[in-house]
Order: sequence, then structure tokens, then C-alpha cells
Amino acid sequence: MTMVETLATPDLSDENILRFVGGVRPCRRGGLRIESEQLGADAGSKLLVHNYGHGGCGVSIGFGTADEAAALVDAHSSTDEPVCVLGAGVVGLTTALRLLQRGRRVRIVAEKPGTETVSTVAGAVWLPTGIEFGETPERVAWFHAILNRSVRALRGLDQRFGVEELPVFEPAGAPAYPEFFDNGTIEPPTALERLPIGAAEQPGRVYRTLFIHTPRFLRVLIAEVEMMGGVFERRTIGRLKDIADLAEPVVVNCLAMGSRSLFDDGAVYPARGMLVLMKPQPLGYIAHDGYKYMFPREDALVLGGCFLEGDDRAEPDEAYCREILRHHRAFFGQDDPR
Ligand SMILES: Cc1cc2nc3c(=O)[nH]c(=O)nc-3n(C[C@H](O)[C@H](O)[C@H](O)COP(=O)(O)OP(=O)(O)OC[C@H]3O[C@@H](n4cnc5c(N)ncnc54)[C@H](O)[C@@H]3O)c2cc1C
Repeated sequence: MTMVETLATPDLSDENILRFVGGVRPCRRGGLRIESEQLGADAGSKLLVHNYGHGGCGVSIGFGTADEAAALVDAHSSTDEPVCVLGAGVVGLTTALRLLQRGRRVRIVAEKPGTETVSTVAGAVWLPTGIEFGETPERVAWFHAILNRSVRALRGLDQRFGVEELPVFEPAGAPAYPEFFDNGTIEPPTALERLPIGAAEQPGRVYRTLFIHTPRFLRVLIAEVEMMGGVFERRTIGRLKDIADLAEPVVVNCLAMGSRSLFDDGAVYPARGMLVLMKPQPLGYIAHDGYKYMFPREDALVLGGCFLEGDDRAEPDEAYCREILRHHRAFFGQDDPR
């Protein structure tokens, strides 16, 4: 057991509330779908590569899945063929960047730009949450390789991207997920006799992981894609015919929830999340208790949250967000005015 000094306490009073936000995690039974298919002449004879199903960890694993998708594009098409990436969330952006870095011409077509997607709502802590790893040992090993590649890619980014390492404190009674640490990318938790945060003296555990300041991360990703020659177009893809009509012979599908109807994938399902954003407070640590978490993001102190499976409403619910606040206030021994 290790003892650590008491750390700074956040001020969770009402005057520090900025706003409530919500979003839908694009989950998929069976986990990620990253595979290629050759479409027939009626669908434009295109190579279609799928890259979706990132659930609660798209920011964490975007770069790893982008490498997989880009490798499939290279394996099945010639390098001078231009690519159309569908979707401009973190998955579309990282995929576009990897393709550009491999020398491809890339156009990104999306209904909403990256700064307006669920990707910008994400916290984002590096943890493989809200996603199925896979049923077979081969599939789990494949997923672990993606996790490893993702961490290496995030660690290799320069400071502009807003990725840093932070300690994560969890009460001893918080749900534990040993599988998050099985891949060896982050060290498993160390037990603590007393947590250095919170009002009550209680045992807990600590580990260190990456934290991604998502609004900045997405802005820099977009700038990098543009700098490398990527072109953005705002458009809705409403049916398969829209894909057949695209000029590019190669298409990568990063449409997240959009894949459910467009590609008739019944395995895709939503998981609603809500967050309370408070004025930024540079605490230097993360408090984590399952989906109840607190992140010191540079633009906001982020209080989460929830994982409401099957609920596809993106807008936040005031009563639920108040409940999130109450939970965090109780943990830090602060009064709830309501
Ligand atoms: C509250 C909350 C907290 C989260 N916290 C974390 C976290 O701490 N760490 C983490 O790693 N992840 C976290 N996530 C999960 C993360 O946000 C997602 O996994 C990730 O954003 C998925 O990225 P994406 O690019 O696949 O999807 P999206 O960001 O949804 O992007 C999809 C893109 O496709 C476009 N699109 C969809 N349909 C169509 C169509 N028919 N035509 C044209 N364009 C279309 C959209 O406009 C958009 O550009 C969180 C999510 C939520 C909601």
C-alpha cells in the first residue's frame, strides 16, 4: 500500500457550471467493424473499407483503428487512387490523416464537421470502455494490438494536440475492470490506504493513463488534415446510391451511428452519455468511479456521466445532470443547494 498527500479539491458550486452536454456513443455488438468489401458494378465497383463501432473509446483508439483501415485500403487498391472518407469525427479524421501520410489524395464527406460531432463531447480519458473486445482469443489479440498502436500514436504526438498523462484515483469500491490493463499499454492500479481526494477517508487505487483534451485535439487534427491537402465537404449520405455516385474509387466508412441504417447493420446501438461542464480547474488528476468521473480538461472541468444503452437522444437531461453533480458534491463533501 502507498500513502500520498491530499490533493486539491474542486469547487463544484452552481456558479461554476458552464453547461450540460450530451452525446451518443456509437457502440456495436461484437465490437469494431474494420473490414473491406468490393462493391458490384451497380454500386460503382468501389472498394469500401468499414471503420466503425468505437463505442465509448473512439478518442482513445482512433489512431489504432485508422492504421488498420489505411492498411486495408493499401492492400486492396493502388496508391494513386484517391480516397473518400465518410465521416469527420475522430475516426474519420485519424483515418484521413493516416491515408494522407501514406501519400493518398483524400476528401472527407460528412454531415457535421469534427467540432460538432460526438467526438468533441468526449472527455476524454484513455481507457477501452464501452466496447466489446471480441469473443475469440484471436479477436482479443487483434484488439489489444489496436490498443497498443493507439497509445504509441498518442504518446508520439507533439504538445499542440493536447495529450498528457494524468493519475486516475478510484475508490476501492468502484467497479474494477482488469481487462483494461491486460494489453500492457498502461500499468495496473496500485492500492492506496487512503485516497488523496474526497471528503471521506477511504482506501482506493491509482493508475496513470493518457488524457486527451478533445476540443483542442480535434481542432489540431482538422488543421493537420487540411495542411496535408485533405479536402472537407459537408454533405449527408442518405442512401447507398450516394456512395456509388462519389468520384473516388475507394471509400472508407467512418459514419459511426450512421452505419446502422446506411449499411443495415443491426449490431450498431447507441449509448447515451451526459456531462456537466464547469469552469476549468487545473486539478492535475482524474477521479474515476465507473461512469461517474471528473476530468480536468483545459476548457472545462468535466463531470460525468452515464452509459444509457439503447437511448439515442443526444441532448442532456437537466435532472440527470443534477444527479451527476450531486454524486460528485457528495464525494467531495460539498453542499447540494437543491
Ligand atoms: C459523454 C461521452 C463521453 C465520452 N468519453 C470518452 C472518453 O473519455 N474517451 C474516449 O476515448 N471516448 C469517449 N467517448 C466516446 C467517443 O466520443 C466516441 O467513441 C467517438 O467520438 C466516436 O467517433 P466517430 O468518429 O466514430 O463518431 P462521430 O464523432 O459521431 O462522427 C461520425 C461522423 O459521421 C458523420 N455522419 C454520420 N452519418 C452520416 C450520414 N448519413 N451522412 C454524412 N455524414 C454522416 C457525422 O456527421 C460525423 O461527422 C465519449 C462519448 C460520450 C457521448
